[in-house]
Amino acid sequence: MSYSLKPGVVAGEDYKTLLKAAKQGGYALPAVNAVGTNSVNAVMEAAAKNKADIIIQFSNSAGQFYAGKGLEDSFEAKVFGSISAAQHIHLLAEKYGICVVLHTDHANKGLIPWVDALVDHSEKHFEKTGEPLYSSHMLDLSAEDIDFNLSECERMLKRMAPIGMSLEIELGVTGGEEDGVGSDDDIGADNPLLYTQPEDCLRAYELLSPIGHFSLAASFGNVHGVYKPGNVKLRPEILKNSQELVQQSCSTGSKPLDLVFHGGSGSEKSKITEAISYGVFKMNIDTDTQFAFAKAVGKYVEENSKAFKYQIDPEDGTPYKKQYDPRKLLRLGEESMIERLDEAFSDLGSAGKSLAQ
Ligand SMILES: [Zn+2]
Repeated sequence: MSYSLKPGVVAGEDYKTLLKAAKQGGYALPAVNAVGTNSVNAVMEAAAKNKADIIIQFSNSAGQFYAGKGLEDSFEAKVFGSISAAQHIHLLAEKYGICVVLHTDHANKGLIPWVDALVDHSEKHFEKTGEPLYSSHMLDLSAEDIDFNLSECERMLKRMAPIGMSLEIELGVTGGEEDGVGSDDDIGADNPLLYTQPEDCLRAYELLSPIGHFSLAASFGNVHGVYKPGNVKLRPEILKNSQELVQQSCSTGSKPLDLVFHGGSGSEKSKITEAISYGVFKMNIDTDTQFAFAKAVGKYVEENSKAFKYQIDPEDGTPYKKQYDPRKLLRLGEESMIERLDEAFSDLGSAGKSLAQ
């Protein structure tokens, strides 16, 4: 079956169409963490170049950074920066001719008020336009006990579903630290916390699917960041077992769970392909795109080191204005990020699969 959508930010039924097409087509969408207009625009450019749809996501600290580190009230900055980022994308996504899913990344217990505040803004946006501001949010309460985790997800989804928003939840722990959430201490191939129990996935499905759409970050040994080989043991068969348990218990079609792969950076390509075959529609990428940006900027600064010390060459008087113009290095960072994303679209099989028409 072929689907088509209008380019721009998608939510509600259009979001579900995007997801259904990915699962039926056997591909997944990259979910790229952005921190400002440079990374946002690079991600949209990469998607347009690859004729692919894309998920752009912000962590709470990226939201704060977007608003400006100088704002005094950091909670307000996290909220308003995230809104500002969303408004930027609403304005431009359509121009890039692709579909964009707008999402926020890990919110632990302390960040629940951040998500509630953003849902407040999506409610206002919905009243005006019939669409939420964000397509989805994540609540990561995997560090809490499962009763609290699921009851809070239930409460949040009850707010979000009526305005066409989806909720991503986490069961089991994604190892490693990212933007102040999580810890490096839990990295280790034999930590049972890093592997989600299929029974917990079933419990989440039974509770949440009657309320609205949710996706599930199930842990199968994945970690945030890039670590030495051997420290990470991916077991994607956990995803397969979870799908089968839900399918059998709830008499659904195949692969009823919409799964998310966290910590995609540095993962073996064969494990990525295997995870997608078990119903992963979204793979998060942050560390590798950060490094791509930094590498290109670092190389440029190294090659033009004088321009970063002097406005005019102290020996021959050459003006360095063109070299130290921030646009020069930021653009190189963007281009390198786009190059890394070319690889991601190809790994995930989503190049050429945009539904935008
Ligand atoms: Zn994550």
